[in-house]
Amino acid sequence: MGNFPYHPVMDKTKMILRLFAALCLAAVLSAQNTGSRSAVHLLMGNPDGAEPSAAAQRKYLMMKEQFALSYDRMTGIPNWVAWHTDSSWLGEVRRSNDFRADSTLPEQWYRVHEASYRRSGYDRGHMCPSGDRTNTQYDNSMTFLMTNMIPQAPNNNQGPWAQLEIYCRELVQQGKELYIYCGGNGEQGFLDSGRVQIPLRTWKAVLVLDAGEDDLRRVTDAARTIAVVMPNSNALIGKNDDWRSFRVTIDSVEALTGFDLFSRLPHSVQTAIERRTDAE
Ligand code: MN
Ligand code: MN
Repeated sequence: MGNFPYHPVMDKTKMILRLFAALCLAAVLSAQNTGSRSAVHLLMGNPDGAEPSAAAQRKYLMMKEQFALSYDRMTGIPNWVAWHTDSSWLGEVRRSNDFRADSTLPEQWYRVHEASYRRSGYDRGHMCPSGDRTNTQYDNSMTFLMTNMIPQAPNNNQGPWAQLEIYCRELVQQGKELYIYCGGNGEQGFLDSGRVQIPLRTWKAVLVLDAGEDDLRRVTDAARTIAVVMPNSNALIGKNDDWRSFRVTIDSVEALTGFDLFSRLPHSVQTAIERRTDAE
């Protein structure tokens, strides 16, 4: 008799244990590959059910480490861009200014490029601002992808829109963290030979939380939200206008866009935080 007789039951147990270990490793690796950094930007919800499939031409989901967006192949601009900002994103790096086409769009799609807005009279307006991604040069550079841009009237982009961006970063420096959605809405013509739609207005919705953990579960009815709708025309908005004068409810932004913002929050919380107009 040998000392180590063949034992089918033991073999099977070993096999199952090995398979289990392999599955655990695969799960860990795939979580790393899909980017634990990108998931946070959509923690509060995907406003239009955008999907990461080229078949979704009007709402193509793009998950970057720095922000997430729903891209519309027909308008050449994002439907919305979403991002999370806390103090870990803010640093000292300089503005990289490397506006460029997004090479991760599906192969056959036209790629809006650094010169597409030239001589149009409209700025290449960041949705996720360069100033919100100053921790590393790489993260800052990613905000210059043209999929993060819409044509913005200079008075809008460089005026109250920029002032609200600055105000948001001040909140972060004061110990807050933010979940932000923004985009353009409506149409007032096109640039780049009809390939890029010029929105009639711009909108933004911001959820303000004290910096902390477990963000989805600690949003209360009392949470502060800031929403604005601004005209995207130099004739209708002044560079020195106060961003506060453009405040509206998130409900009105949802009615305007057809999106459901902050959709992963309980309905009762959404009802409470989306009906108020910020007055601070
Ligand atoms: Mn801007
Ligand atoms: Mn909502």
